[in-house]
Amino acid sequence: MEKWPIGVFTSVDAGLGVKLEVAQELNVPTIQLHAPAKETRTAENAQAFLGRLDSLGIQLTCVFCGFEGESYADIPTVSKTVGLVPPETRAARTQELKEIADFAKLLGCHCVGLHLGFIPHDASDPLYEQVLTVTREVLDHCKANGQDLHLETGQESADGLLQFVSDVERDNLFVNFDPANMILYGTGEPIAALKKIGSLVHSVHCKDGTWADKPGEEWGAEVPLGAGAVGMETYLRTLDDLGYVGPLTIEREIASEPERQKEEIGQAVQLLRELKAKIG
Ligand code: MG
Repeated sequence: MEKWPIGVFTSVDAGLGVKLEVAQELNVPTIQLHAPAKETRTAENAQAFLGRLDSLGIQLTCVFCGFEGESYADIPTVSKTVGLVPPETRAARTQELKEIADFAKLLGCHCVGLHLGFIPHDASDPLYEQVLTVTREVLDHCKANGQDLHLETGQESADGLLQFVSDVERDNLFVNFDPANMILYGTGEPIAALKKIGSLVHSVHCKDGTWADKPGEEWGAEVPLGAGAVGMETYLRTLDDLGYVGPLTIEREIASEPERQKEEIGQAVQLLRELKAKIG
């Protein structure tokens, strides 16, 4: 694969990504895929999807998990509803995550991505140990599939994430770095966080955002790539310094406005092409 192939975050029937046709129209060579709904995760659909990717010359680089009942309405709701942290839904979601990993395997994909949820910041909180245990269980399942698990950034500070990855003690746990999420959740200045997380970053999102007035309490705003506080040139230069050569996957989470979403992702592709030509 070329250095920094551009990608887009796509959805089939679940999640906030764009349709595969948008990736095709924008002529991008890679995608990440939000896991399709349970009833469509069949071997037949996997074969059909692979056939489409093949005919379009598009490579799938990561399958992202999402679960029913998750809500990103505001930060406290994320804390209550997202990922494997909430105890009430953990067992069922762990099972589903394994099924999604198996579906990703049918797609020949070696990477599974996940919003784990808000990991307790205090390692002596009993919930912390529970999250470690379930993460290991999932990682061991992925390992048997020949897969890595990438944790999406945002809900933890860089230091919190590094501590957690170290405590998990598995060699197939990495990070999908989303610089905008650091801003939206108010968990830290994204470039400094990226430098800290460094070599654990095995995939990235290209997304932009602006800080909230009260970071960490209220959401910041997600904005078109280049219009926010990330600083895309500095972002790419920092990735370059870290030796990151993987895909640059664009996310623009305004699925309710598909036309605007497509247009702004098209502009993001253009921006990344220009920066690649300048830096890469
Ligand atoms: Mg993201």
